[in-house]
Amino acid sequence: MNRPRFVILGPQGAGKGTQAGRLVHRFHITHIYPGQIIRDEMTAGTALGKKVAKTMNAGKLIPNRITNRLIRERIESKICQSGWITDGYPRNLAQAKPFQKFGHPNLIIHLHLTDDAAVKRLSGRRMCSRGHVYHLQHDPPKKRRGYCDHDGLKLFQREDDTPQAIRKRLHIYHHETEPLLHWYKEKVLIITVDAHKSIPLVYRDMIAKMKRISWLSSRLDQK
Ligand code: ADP
Repeated sequence: MNRPRFVILGPQGAGKGTQAGRLVHRFHITHIYPGQIIRDEMTAGTALGKKVAKTMNAGKLIPNRITNRLIRERIESKICQSGWITDGYPRNLAQAKPFQKFGHPNLIIHLHLTDDAAVKRLSGRRMCSRGHVYHLQHDPPKKRRGYCDHDGLKLFQREDDTPQAIRKRLHIYHHETEPLLHWYKEKVLIITVDAHKSIPLVYRDMIAKMKRISWLSSRLDQK
């Protein structure tokens, strides 16, 4: 049977982390995002982790080669046996090409959001150090204000969630990541969802589109 091998793609603030989190529960799959894997690697103090820490401390980007290797290791590990969803990866063609060979994604979920909406939305984003995401207005924690519902960790605002930094990241998204949609067109099925709506409506639209895909609809009907 096919197992979910999803990629969620969209600009910063589109709700990739939020919706991926919901799909993880729905399909019992693993959420893969580079930021977390890199942090795990650094915490574990592996040789690769030390190298990555050095690069990051020098204010440099992690080379695609290393990111690809980390994602590949994770995807081939036991925790990903029943399926996975990548979020924030691949970011450019140098990642998408090797990923196509070792990952064989079978669905691209494209969340569409305008830049103005992204900037507005991201100013309210808060998260915990394990990567659980909230929004001050749209998705606040339910148990205790300012603390993560899942692990009780204190929520913080990302340093790069300022309007100026967001615009810069959006610019990179349009130049490096968005072109992947065109590249994937002939290779992998793509569904596009309007991400301007509320979190439950985006989720509903996304599931409705998934239900039209035969191998996925049978999995969704089991619930
Ligand atoms: P991404 O991973 O694409 O950058 P996130 O999932 O981190 O996006 O969402 C960005 C912020 O917007 C978070 O604070 C999240 O709670 C909030 N958010 C996500 N989806 C929506 C939505 N449909 N409507 C309003 N706020 C949203």
